[in-house]
Amino acid sequence: MTNISGPMPGENFLHMLNIVIFGPPGSGKGTQSARIVKKYDLIHLSTGDMMREEMKNDTPLGREVRGYIDKGLLVPDEVVLKEIDMHINRHLDKPGFIFDGFPRTIVQARALDQMLEAEGLPISLVISVDVEEEELFKRMMGRGEDSGRSDDAEHIIRRRLEVYKEQTLPLISYYMEQGKIASINGMSPVDQVFDKITRAIDTYLESQTVLPVVD
Ligand code: ADP
Repeated sequence: MTNISGPMPGENFLHMLNIVIFGPPGSGKGTQSARIVKKYDLIHLSTGDMMREEMKNDTPLGREVRGYIDKGLLVPDEVVLKEIDMHINRHLDKPGFIFDGFPRTIVQARALDQMLEAEGLPISLVISVDVEEEELFKRMMGRGEDSGRSDDAEHIIRRRLEVYKEQTLPLISYYMEQGKIASINGMSPVDQVFDKITRAIDTYLESQTVLPVVD
């Protein structure tokens, strides 16, 4: 993203790294995001966390989204997009963002591209964390016991995985066409997954290349 001819209107040179962390529910996106933001000084934008915060504070938005979340369904695109837009604008002075749990539909992905392009800050790379379905299920069932998350119950988990396959998985081709996907095997222990992610990010920072697979 270096531009030797100087900034164009709307370009923001402070933003050098915008990452989407992508993967099914239970793939460890939240855990890895927390480490990534620390190492690379990014702003963590998790739409799931935003929604849970609204629900916890029992705001009108929280009450609106609860009906979807507790059924394992996606919150409507326009609701999520409004939240994301607000958070991006609040942190435009930071070195970059990591988007976690967003985008989750093609409509959201297109809208994100437009929002970022308007600021001259395209997505740098999309880290796709791959975990087998059986393992996802085990992790979420385990998490439900102590997370207190209302959507970590067995039938809701099944629904979330179905929704993921139907509405979110198509984003792989969307970003594949843009040459932005780095696929990470997410079945290993947390530290090893993080090592692979940092390899993908460091390669990008050094040479603006996206490693298609990091194993
Ligand atoms: P997980 O990755 O474990 O599914 P999240 O914390 O990312 O959990 O999201 C929890 C729930 O919040 C989702 O099942 C969905 O209902 C809602 N949600 C989060 N992000 C989005 C989004 N980008 N679009 C629509 N709904 C969302």
